[in-house]
Amino acid sequence: MRIAAKYLYLSAEDTPVRNGFVEVDDEGLILRTGMVPDPSEEDLWIDGALVPGFVNGHCHLELSHLKGKFTRLSGMAGFIDQINSLRDSSSREEKIRCLENWMDRMWDSGVSAMADISNCDDSFAVKASSPMYTRTFIELFGSEPRDCDAVMEGARKLLEKAHRRGIDASITPHSCYTMSPQLLGEAARAGLSSGFLSYHSQESSQEEDMIRTGTGELADNRRKYGMSMPPVRGTSSLEYFLDTVGNPAPDENAHLLLVHNVCLCEKDAEAALSRFRNVYWAVCPMSNLFIHNTLPPIELMRRLGLKILVGTDSLSSNDDLDMVKEMYCLQSNFPEVSLGEIIRWSTLNGAEFLGRERELGSIEVGKRPGLVALCELDSNGRLTASSYSERLV
Ligand SMILES: [Zn+2]
Repeated sequence: MRIAAKYLYLSAEDTPVRNGFVEVDDEGLILRTGMVPDPSEEDLWIDGALVPGFVNGHCHLELSHLKGKFTRLSGMAGFIDQINSLRDSSSREEKIRCLENWMDRMWDSGVSAMADISNCDDSFAVKASSPMYTRTFIELFGSEPRDCDAVMEGARKLLEKAHRRGIDASITPHSCYTMSPQLLGEAARAGLSSGFLSYHSQESSQEEDMIRTGTGELADNRRKYGMSMPPVRGTSSLEYFLDTVGNPAPDENAHLLLVHNVCLCEKDAEAALSRFRNVYWAVCPMSNLFIHNTLPPIELMRRLGLKILVGTDSLSSNDDLDMVKEMYCLQSNFPEVSLGEIIRWSTLNGAEFLGRERELGSIEVGKRPGLVALCELDSNGRLTASSYSERLV
C-alpha cells in the first residue's frame, strides 16, 4: 500500500517532507519513502500530516470508568480524596467494559504503544489481546512502614499474573507522598532491576511542600487520616526519591520515567541525570490543567535537552485519552515549539523509553510503527482546535 501526504514526518527529523509518500506491506512494514511528483495522481492522499503511531507515555487505563466523575481544580489533596472515594464506584464488569472501549479508541486514533499503570489485574486481558504494545507498571503505595513486606508480596503476585498473560510488566513506586521510605526504596529497586521504572514526580507544589517543610495541604491531608509521613528533608521531592533509591543508583542503565515534572528545576534535573543514564520525562498537560491549572516547565526541559514524552494520564483527571489534544495543548501554551518536535515527544521518545525504537516510533524502512493521519491542520501545517488523528495502518 502507498499513502501520500502534504506533510510526512520521517525518522527523528522535526521538519516534514512536503508531499511525501510511504509504502508499506500487508504487515505494516515500511518498505520505501520518498517525494511525490504529482499529488493529483496519488490514490491515497492525506491533506494533512502522516506520522508514526503514537506512544502514550503515561496512562492508567483501569481508571477509565471514572470519566466525568471528578471535580476540576481540586488540587492534589482533593484529587487523592476523590480517588479514594470513587475508585470502586463501578463493578468490575463495568470497569472492564469501559477500559476495553478506551483501549480500542486509543488504538483507532493511532496509539501504537503505551506505558500504562496498573494497581490490579482489570486491564491485563485487554492488554494481552490488543495489537498495541504495552508495558504495565504494577504500581505500589502504602504509607505504613509495617505494611511494606505485604505490599511487595502482593505486587510480586500481580507481576507474575501479568507475565503469565504474556504482558511486559515492572513493579513501580507511585509517589513520595503515598509511600513509606521503606516501600519507596524497595519498589524502586524492584522496578529498576527489571530495567524500567515509571514514577509520579513533582506533580504539585503541595508534594514539594510536604517533603521540604512538612507543611501544606497534602501533608495536612495525610495527617488527617492518621497516616505515617515521609521524612521532612528540606530538599525537593525528586532529590528525596533519588536518595531513597540509593547513591550510587542501582541499575544506572535502567530506563527511568519521571511523570509530570510540574515543579522540576534545573538542579533536580541534573541530580537525576547524574545518577541514571536513561532518564525520560513525561508531561501530561491536560491532567495538570485539570487538577491544578499548571503546566510543566517546557522551556527549561528543552534547554536542558531532556527526553520528553507525552501522556494522557487517566480519565479521572482528563476528559479524553487523546494524544492530539495533549499535543495541541502543548503547542498552544508553548508556541515556540515546532509540531515536529512535539510529534517526536509523542512517538520516538516514548518508543525509546519502552526499548522498542527498533520497531516503533518513527517512519523508517524496516520498522512497523503504524501510520497515522493528522487532519485539520492550519495553513502553516500547525495543529488546530479541531485537529484529530486516525490510524491508517
Ligand atoms: Zn498518573
